[in-house]
Amino acid sequence: MAEHGLIDPVSRYPKPPFKKQSQPWPGLAGQMEPRPDHGETSYKGSGRLAGRKALITGGDSGMGRAAAIAYAREGADVAINYLPAEEPDAQEVIALIKKEGRIGLAIPGDLKDEAFCGRLVEQAAQGLGGLDTVVNNAARQQTRASILDVSSEDFDATMKTNIYAPFWIIKAALRHLKPGSCIIGTTSEQAYDPSPDLYDYAQTKAATMNYVKSLAKQLASKGIRVNGVAPGPIWTPLQVSGGATMEKLEKFGGMTPLGRPGQPVELASIYVQLAAADASYATGQVYGAAGGSGQP
Ligand code: NAD
Ligand code: MG
Repeated sequence: MAEHGLIDPVSRYPKPPFKKQSQPWPGLAGQMEPRPDHGETSYKGSGRLAGRKALITGGDSGMGRAAAIAYAREGADVAINYLPAEEPDAQEVIALIKKEGRIGLAIPGDLKDEAFCGRLVEQAAQGLGGLDTVVNNAARQQTRASILDVSSEDFDATMKTNIYAPFWIIKAALRHLKPGSCIIGTTSEQAYDPSPDLYDYAQTKAATMNYVKSLAKQLASKGIRVNGVAPGPIWTPLQVSGGATMEKLEKFGGMTPLGRPGQPVELASIYVQLAAADASYATGQVYGAAGGSGQP
């Protein structure tokens, strides 16, 4: 497949039609067909994050897992947060981090709880011996055809997970973040081109893009960089556990110019780049990976 280092992005990964599948929220990567590629066998590090100490929410699967694997291979110690139901996915990630000879901390718990967000940061900082990289990546996404189908409980859970949790985590983390540290938020193409069935979720992604820009200005003088990653359609558990309709899932990613969804590993190097010290002039930026569409 790879000739002289060239890999065709069109044929590199599975394309639709995909098999019908559904899991209860939050879903497991280990039960998806095909299994997503988070870089388990392919990501190669080169010491870009040697000695760094990172906390990644939603680090059990999807983009968070791809970032966790890549960070460990680049020489960072990594704490991951996830929901208790995701323990099987999380244990796979912890094993991969430890295989690199790095510290891998598993801290399960519900980010909708402010007190837990505070404990999460303290446990991560204590277990890693400091904290310099915070990746706010966890999110809730549930498709609802109509705004009338979005209950107040739904709306509240989406806001708590996607907006309040990063707010609580960043406030708790600030006292640990020395100059040179960074904060990364996972936003989405939904921030600028929302789907009609993602009324609550899409606005949280616009809010994420916005906090990245305001905090970057606020924290620049402290030497803390704040950036965002904006994925397009990526093959992750969030999509097969209520995030997308079955109709959308079968054709998932087929509308992009590359004609397929992205795999989490295809964004790993972006999370690495934004955390790396050589990206010292990048703050308040949003880097996209959406298969040819998705930017404003
Ligand atoms: P994913 O399901 O692998 O990751 C989401 C994670 O969020 C879960 O693994 C879970 O651990 C965590 N989470 C959700 N609710 C939580 C709670 N209450 N407490 C603790 N953890 C909780 O899916 P993903 O697609 O990799 O999602 C990662 C990020 O990517 C999200 O911010 C999502 O909005 C964003 N995103 C995804 C896509 C896509 O197509 N998959 C596109 C654009 C943006
Ligand atoms: Mg998960």
